[in-house]
Amino acid sequence: MPKARHLEYLNKKLRAIVQYAYKHSTAIKNKLDSVGLKPKDIQTIIDLEKLPITKKADLVELQKRNPPFGGFEGVPIQTLRRIYVSPGPIHEPGETEYEEIAWGQAMTAGGFRPGDIAINTFNYHMVPFALHMVDNSLHKLGCITVPTGVGNTEQQVHILRNLKANAFCGTPSFLLAIAEKAEEMGLDLKKDLNLRVGFVATEMLPESLRSKLEEKFGMTIRQSYGTADIGCLGYECVEKNGMHIPDDKIVEIVDPETGKQLRPGQAGEIVATTFNKVYPLVRFGTGDLSLLTETPCPCGRTSPRLAKILGRVDQVTKVRGLFIHPGQVDEIASRHPMIGRYQVLVTRLEHKDEMTFRVELKEEISRIETLRGEIERSIRDVMKLRGDIEFVPRGTIPEGAKKIVDQRTWE
Ligand SMILES: [Zn+2]
Repeated sequence: MPKARHLEYLNKKLRAIVQYAYKHSTAIKNKLDSVGLKPKDIQTIIDLEKLPITKKADLVELQKRNPPFGGFEGVPIQTLRRIYVSPGPIHEPGETEYEEIAWGQAMTAGGFRPGDIAINTFNYHMVPFALHMVDNSLHKLGCITVPTGVGNTEQQVHILRNLKANAFCGTPSFLLAIAEKAEEMGLDLKKDLNLRVGFVATEMLPESLRSKLEEKFGMTIRQSYGTADIGCLGYECVEKNGMHIPDDKIVEIVDPETGKQLRPGQAGEIVATTFNKVYPLVRFGTGDLSLLTETPCPCGRTSPRLAKILGRVDQVTKVRGLFIHPGQVDEIASRHPMIGRYQVLVTRLEHKDEMTFRVELKEEISRIETLRGEIERSIRDVMKLRGDIEFVPRGTIPEGAKKIVDQRTWE
C-alpha cells in the first residue's frame, strides 16, 4: 500500500479499536477516562500522544489488582480457548481462532513457504509464543509443524534428519547448539541435514553468529521482534536492512520522558497498538529502544522499518542534559575491532556529570594512546559528548554486564 493510503487504513482501524475497547475493556475505558478523553478524541495516530503509555510494570500491577487480565481483555473470559502465563507474572488471553497475520508475514518475508516442514523449538510451556503465535502462524502458511520445543539437542538432530525438515523456528543460540551437536555426531550439516530457512526471535542476533550459522547449514536466517502481549512488531525481509513493521500494527517511537512521538532516525521507546479485539492493548510500552527508517526497501514492502533494537529504556541515561543509550555504546565499540568487552560508567564529580568508557582489549597493543584518541573521537561523533577512556585488564567487565552503569548519587 502507498504510505498515505496505509496511514488512512491504520487511522480507520485505530478509531474502530478504540471505540470497541472503550466499550468492552474496563482498563482501556479507565485509561481514556483518566485523561478526560472519549473515543471520538482519538482520530489519528498523532492523537495517541494524548494517552498515557501502559508499561509492563503497570500491566503486572493492574493484573494483580484485577486478575487475570487487569481488565484489558476485550471479550468475556468464558469465550477464551487458553490462558497463557508469562514471566512477571503476566497473563495473556488466547482466543479460539488465531487471526493475527503478522508473524505469518514475518515467516513469509524470511522465505517460509507452504509445504515446508518446520521444527518449532521455542518453549511450548505456559507462554504464548510457541504454541499460540508460531504454531498457528505456521499452520496459516500451510507449513507442517514438528512441535519439538526447546532442549533435547541430540533428538532434535535426529528429527531434522529423519523428517528432512527444511525450516527452523527458535533462538539463534539454540540453532548453534544444534549445529555443534550435529557436528559432534559426525554429521555434515549441509549434506546430512536439509535446513533451508530459519525464523529466529526472542534473542539478539549478532551478524557474526548469523553468517556463521547460514554458512554452516547453507540456509537463510531472518529475525523478528515482538512481545508476548502484542505479538509481532517487526521482521526482516530478504534484504536484511532493518525490521519491517507489520501492516496491522501501529508502532510509535517516543521520547521516554515525555511520551511524544519522534521523527524517523531519532532513538526512542517502541510503543505499540494492536487491533486485536481479544486483547486490545492501546499505547503499550515495550521498554525496548529503536529508531525508524522510512527509506524505500528494495523488497517492495512500503512499511517503515525498525532500524535495530538498541537496548532497554531503563538503561537510557541523561549525561549533561543529553540522552545516551546502549545502542550508541555498541556503535562506538563496533568502530574499533580491537575492543573486547566494554561498558560506560556515568559518575558525578563536583556537581558535574562524568562519563568513562571502560575498555578491555582483545590483545595488548603498542599504540594505545593513538587508540585512546580514536575512541574519544568516536564518542564525540556518536554521542555528541566528551568522555574519558579507561583501559582495564581482561576479565574486569563481567560477561553480560550492563552497557551503561549510572553510579551517580543525588544527595
Ligand atoms: Zn524489505
